[in-house]
Amino acid sequence: MRRLNTKVMILGAGGGGFGACYELTRRGIPVVIADRNPGFGGNAVYSGVSCWEPGVSLEGVHRILAARLMQTGGGQVQRTVPNYKLFFEDMGYADPYALCPDYPWGLSIACGDDYESTLKRCRQFCVSPHEWRRFMTDEDALGAEMAALIAENGPHCTALFGYRFTGCETAAGKITAVLLENGTETVQVNAEYFLDCTGSIVLARSAGCRCTIGGDDGDPSAVNGISMVFRVSKNASNTLPDPDPAWLESIAARDAVWERETMRRVVSCFNVYPNGDINVNMLPTLTGAEWQALDETAPAVGIARVWRYWRYMQSEKGLADRHIVKIFSPGIREDWRLVGRRVLTLEDITADFAIREDTIAIADHALDTHGLKNAVPGELAHPYAIPLDCTRPAEYDNLFVVCRGASFSHTAASSARLTRTMMSMGEGVAAHLAKALQL
Ligand SMILES: Cc1cc2nc3c(=O)[nH]c(=O)nc-3n(C[C@H](O)[C@H](O)[C@H](O)COP(=O)(O)OP(=O)(O)OC[C@H]3O[C@@H](n4cnc5c(N)ncnc54)[C@H](O)[C@@H]3O)c2cc1C
Repeated sequence: MRRLNTKVMILGAGGGGFGACYELTRRGIPVVIADRNPGFGGNAVYSGVSCWEPGVSLEGVHRILAARLMQTGGGQVQRTVPNYKLFFEDMGYADPYALCPDYPWGLSIACGDDYESTLKRCRQFCVSPHEWRRFMTDEDALGAEMAALIAENGPHCTALFGYRFTGCETAAGKITAVLLENGTETVQVNAEYFLDCTGSIVLARSAGCRCTIGGDDGDPSAVNGISMVFRVSKNASNTLPDPDPAWLESIAARDAVWERETMRRVVSCFNVYPNGDINVNMLPTLTGAEWQALDETAPAVGIARVWRYWRYMQSEKGLADRHIVKIFSPGIREDWRLVGRRVLTLEDITADFAIREDTIAIADHALDTHGLKNAVPGELAHPYAIPLDCTRPAEYDNLFVVCRGASFSHTAASSARLTRTMMSMGEGVAAHLAKALQL
């Protein structure tokens, strides 16, 4: 077994893990970062969730990323299209009304506004959704810029990509080591501090921290749906090969109710990439309850639904010239959450806004529960602050949960779990650790 010793071990290189890694290495603090994926970016890169929703943020690395991506053509500011008809006419489709006779679709296209405009969401800043601006990135460009920024911070980061978490060791109220494997070797990482940035909080759960899943009313099945985001292009040269018809037919036969009753009512977000491709985010591909019930067969059912949905869009909605070039890995909006030293609740989010010494991030995204029953949906009147203790389990002094699975109520999580907010939380925790390490 290979053994590594470091100051801070970061498990998970998505938004939260990247933010922490950037800020720690910028300050010269040695880190080991590990992820089962081949690189930085997590959900935003490997699940195709590469659009930053409008929302406030503290200063941070998001600005540097955005500036670089805008310079290289890997990112652009977008506005929501209020009139889909005009958009589809612009795109040259013959019968735009046929595209969405009954249901609204989110649609975002490039506009000339500056990045600053994307940092507003709540009613205090935007009177209507037409004022919202998003920041859309090409997922590969985003992952590459993240890696470049870490490299530019010097030789402080040891990255273990392609490594999966297998367990941890604890002693006297502390995590002492994390174990990883990549199929050919096992690695033990010893550190002074550990950050669980895995989204699903695998380290905190493995270490026995108190956690929860589902709605605030205790319903474990009340979790947001799963989207298999996909990318469609007019460029046929890189089209994905058609799936095996027998495979597709066998899944469709078992999933006929979805096609009959749900497929035509799927509301999708269409975000146009800087190169003109479209990122399609079905809301959702599978409900949270379906994802839990189908278990290991769920990803295959999701992929089959993507193909069936897109064929329907091609044949009946005039999008025949757009081909699937990428189907991303399942995008999980939520599952397990820490119940930590402080749980951020709806009351905290709606209380008067103040930035305090323990604030690690701010946010103002809507309570976006995607129609779950018993959930409180809606836009916020003003921003709120996320305190450090939302990342701290009661059980360990040297563990921080810096991802969508931090200590949020179900309702609060539906607003906080955005890419930029997670990056900001990572940077905030890193700044706190730098103080603790007296560096
Ligand atoms: C379909 C969908 C649409 C969304 N739309 C938007 C949007 O438009 N805008 C927006 O800002 N946000 C959006 N979000 C939310 C946002 O993408 C996520 O909440 C955010 O990216 C989560 O960041 P994270 O750092 O918590 O986790 P992730 O980005 O998920 O990072 C976790 C990392 O941990 C790694 N990991 C997990 N388990 C292990 C293990 N056992 N071993 C090793 N590594 C492991 C993963 O590989 C991953 O890289 C959306 C989410 C989904 C699913």
